[in-house]
Amino acid sequence: MTAETLETPAIRPAAVEVHDVHKWYGAHRVLDGIDLTVQPGEVTVILGPSGSGKSTLLRVINHLEKPEIGYVSVNGELIGVRRHGERLKELSERAILAQRSRIGFVFHNFNLFPHLTVMDNVAAAPVATRKLTRPEAQELARELLGRVGLGDKTDAYPRQLSGGQQQRVAIARALALRPGIILFDEPTSALDPELVGEVLEVIKDLATSGTTLVIVTHEIGFAREVADRVVFIDGGRIVEQGPPAEALDNPRHERTRDFLSKVL
Ligand code: ADP
Ligand code: MG
Repeated sequence: MTAETLETPAIRPAAVEVHDVHKWYGAHRVLDGIDLTVQPGEVTVILGPSGSGKSTLLRVINHLEKPEIGYVSVNGELIGVRRHGERLKELSERAILAQRSRIGFVFHNFNLFPHLTVMDNVAAAPVATRKLTRPEAQELARELLGRVGLGDKTDAYPRQLSGGQQQRVAIARALALRPGIILFDEPTSALDPELVGEVLEVIKDLATSGTTLVIVTHEIGFAREVADRVVFIDGGRIVEQGPPAEALDNPRHERTRDFLSKVL
């Protein structure tokens, strides 16, 4: 046997692995046994009716919520809670914060800091986390704002911008921590229809640049264009998943067909 045959190729861990996650509030089961694996560089679009658990799933991935059962691992690092009563290793608050800083989160309502300029909205986190000095963070912010088409708005305040521009600032802000994964929770749902396209263009640009994206959206055309995989959730369960050509154009489940007929 040669040396080469003995070498095991390096196995890259999944970007996100959600394993048998159950989440409930009182008697209300919001996530009811979710298994989901997202590979590095993959674009996953999550669809499903209102109240089906989509935002909760993103919050579990970002460790803003702890599942009652199941676990989530990000880049191979387990954030364990309990699995059928068994206690998994729990990461310290510090480790969770470190991991969260590697996951960008873009909300439907932008969540910008209203009292900070566009530049400072983007530059604040890398400075606060001591990843960059202030001048370095400002240089990065300028570059990222250029990338989302807002190079001329660095000194503006959020209230002076349109919703589409604010959401593009929020995307630049998420990118400033150089996350490996970005989660989007209905990023265009609060926008006037004519502003949706400019935000989707920015997300498309990220999708082709190899960033791992998990996107909750009702924009089916966009999903068809950018998704490697579409996941349809209903009642806290994954009903169907597959490439867009299957899950969107040839869904196997009645509930998926019914949902698509309402949003298309
Ligand atoms: P979606 O994003 O698909 O619309 P959510 O994940 O926001 O769904 O919510 C799923 C269900 O969980 C909803 O019925 C919602 O009311 C409930 N829920 C979400 N967060 C909480 C909470 N913090 N406390 C109680 N119920 C919640
Ligand atoms: Mg939601």
